[in-house]
Amino acid sequence: MTLLTVEIAAAGYGAVTVLRDVVFEIPEGGRLVVLGANGAGKTTTLRTISGLCRVEGAVRFAGKDVTGMPPHRVAATGIAHVPQGRGTFGDLTVRENLLVGGSGRPGRAAARDAARWLDRFPRLAERSGRPASGLSGGEQQLLAIARAYMAAPQLVLLDEPSLGLAPKITQELFATLDEIGRETGTAMLLVEQNAELALGIAEEAVVIESGTITVRGSAAELRDKDEVRRAYLGV
Ligand code: ATP
Repeated sequence: MTLLTVEIAAAGYGAVTVLRDVVFEIPEGGRLVVLGANGAGKTTTLRTISGLCRVEGAVRFAGKDVTGMPPHRVAATGIAHVPQGRGTFGDLTVRENLLVGGSGRPGRAAARDAARWLDRFPRLAERSGRPASGLSGGEQQLLAIARAYMAAPQLVLLDEPSLGLAPKITQELFATLDEIGRETGTAMLLVEQNAELALGIAEEAVVIESGTITVRGSAAELRDKDEVRRAYLGV
């Protein structure tokens, strides 16, 4: 069953149109990666789905038309957004950050899930009572991801989770994302510059250039395409 349908005719900020004819679908539990150079429109694609951009066209999620809905209502339909740069609350403790993520759910369910995420990530558990600002970049990314899953979403939007992380930490992060995806069955829409790792955990992929989709296919197909290998895989 289709979970997300994106049919963006045009989207952008005020008078600036960034995306044109960006069309794709994600099935329930599916994983799609959006590749593209800096400034191609990847972040704008995620922001449009989350209700943060002006849009012409349609975005449908879980049987609902979410086009033009304000971001808090889009989030309430079951879409969680992990923004570029993590967006953790530095003054709140690690545990409080998790509870903010679960604030739309009954308190007991949120407290139980916060404890589960802390069990899962011992480095966060050790620092659960300390401000999030003291975490390393990789730990902040884990916290941002766990905070998103605290909302018990059906779809998680991840904007360049590898940004600013060392290669080894990035590899661990992608292995973790792969595991979480399998365990929870939550669909994933991933924007990423690290094409090699992203294609490794995605099923489908699209390439955005200058605001429009130029290549699409299964992750395996994209790995074999010369143009993708040259531009994004450094081959
Ligand atoms: P990056 O990898 O650098 O994050 P991206 O593919 O995510 O790139 P976007 O952030 O979506 O690209 O930006 C696409 C285009 O939209 C760029 O030309 C950018 O300058 C423009 N843009 C982004 N944010 C705004 C804004 N708030 N107002 C006007 N234009 C914007």
